[in-house]
Amino acid sequence: MMSRIWLTVNDLKQYLYCPRVVYYYTVVPVDRQVTYKMKRGQLSQEELERLEVRRKLSKYGLTGGERKINLSLFSKELRLSGKLDCMIISSESEYIPVDFKDTLSRPHANHVIQLAAYGLLIESHYVTNVERGFIYAIPSKTIYPVEITAKLKDDVNNILQKIEKMIIIQDIPEKSGNQNKCQDCEFRNFCGDVF
Ligand code: SF4
Repeated sequence: MMSRIWLTVNDLKQYLYCPRVVYYYTVVPVDRQVTYKMKRGQLSQEELERLEVRRKLSKYGLTGGERKINLSLFSKELRLSGKLDCMIISSESEYIPVDFKDTLSRPHANHVIQLAAYGLLIESHYVTNVERGFIYAIPSKTIYPVEITAKLKDDVNNILQKIEKMIIIQDIPEKSGNQNKCQDCEFRNFCGDVF
């Protein structure tokens, strides 16, 4: 089913962090306190190029191909858009999303879902099939291969539908189950029932 509302991969990321964050951004926009995490934002084009250009494609297990850095993607079909850190088109014409994460640990489920969302955007934009991607953990310089399965793609679509429903019916979602997230959240002043 086509969504009626345009969403971004960032909405998906925020929703997975806590559904209320997307509620505050979209349904009842509020003046919030800007946190360090927000100020840091996305990596700049220069940072991405510096991180990626010197790395050989063999590090991804590829013999060759070309890279597109900081790639804007959108799909009318999915009503979804996003900016991907890097996309590799291998010499075998395989389209592979690479997402850079500032994480010390192995990729979390939300990182994998975001990568799958980029995979869907690539599929829609380039009329191809995306079956795998990579998450690059910046601090450890580790490349994690991720299989982008049909189940993962269904999960992305299901979450997008949940976000759309939340926005349409304007119903405040349950609070995050993780109090640690609330401590560092720019919306904590608006979540009176959390504290
Ligand atoms: S304060 Fe907690 S419940 Fe409220 S939006 Fe932030 S993370 Fe979610």
